[in-house]
Amino acid sequence: MESINNEDKTMIHISHLHPLKLIESPEPKPMCHACNMLCSNQSYGCIQCYYFLHITCATTKRTMDHPSHPAHTLKLELTPPYHNGPYGCDGCGVDGTSFCLRCGECSYDLHLPCAAIPHQVKHSSHPHQLTLVYENPYSPDTEGAFCNLCMKDLDVNKWFYLCTSCDFGGHVECFSPEKLEVLSPGLQEPHHMESYGAAQVGNQTNNLLELQLQLRRAGQANAIINAGHSLSSLA
Ligand SMILES: [Zn+2]
Ligand SMILES: [Zn+2]
Ligand SMILES: [Zn+2]
Ligand SMILES: [Zn+2]
Ligand SMILES: [Zn+2]
Ligand SMILES: [Zn+2]
Repeated sequence: MESINNEDKTMIHISHLHPLKLIESPEPKPMCHACNMLCSNQSYGCIQCYYFLHITCATTKRTMDHPSHPAHTLKLELTPPYHNGPYGCDGCGVDGTSFCLRCGECSYDLHLPCAAIPHQVKHSSHPHQLTLVYENPYSPDTEGAFCNLCMKDLDVNKWFYLCTSCDFGGHVECFSPEKLEVLSPGLQEPHHMESYGAAQVGNQTNNLLELQLQLRRAGQANAIINAGHSLSSLA
């Protein structure tokens, strides 16, 4: 779907007419057209059209297997698959209005940044490895789950990090990226990323967690807006 030229750091992406160049994101920081989150570091961009994609979003393959949905292969869609609006991401629960990784058979949809959250990590807060949990591991009526880092409520129906032997874990965004060591990535990294070197890949993980944080904030803002609506409809 895309062809990358490592020599001059450009790529042809199916979503855009012109070649995209790997550049430091300009000011003001542009939105990524794949996920609608800010591009804060390097990104693939067409300056002429002010069209930008995160490296992760630009290099997501057309089809891929993801550990959260082992039964079927996910396909990259460039527009939300539903005619009448956004898709709900099955990873974070926040609406998506642009690219999505999808299993059509199950109506299973993921944001690109969510699909790239590392599957297994080590974190300075805990001696054992933590695994990203995709399905509620507790009984369905479990209440009062909380995050061991921020001590706030944890929705166990969304993805979160967990050490199963200690029942220690919490919000993805609470496991701060500086202290994170990725043991197993979420997405299979495209092989050309090797040429960026380990430091770059580490940076990308930080970017991903920053994106994740942006998504959560967007979700909270929506929840507040929705609450406002339901309150005003009561009046
Ligand atoms: Zn993006
Ligand atoms: Zn262009
Ligand atoms: Zn998501
Ligand atoms: Zn499926
Ligand atoms: Zn937390
Ligand atoms: Zn443990």
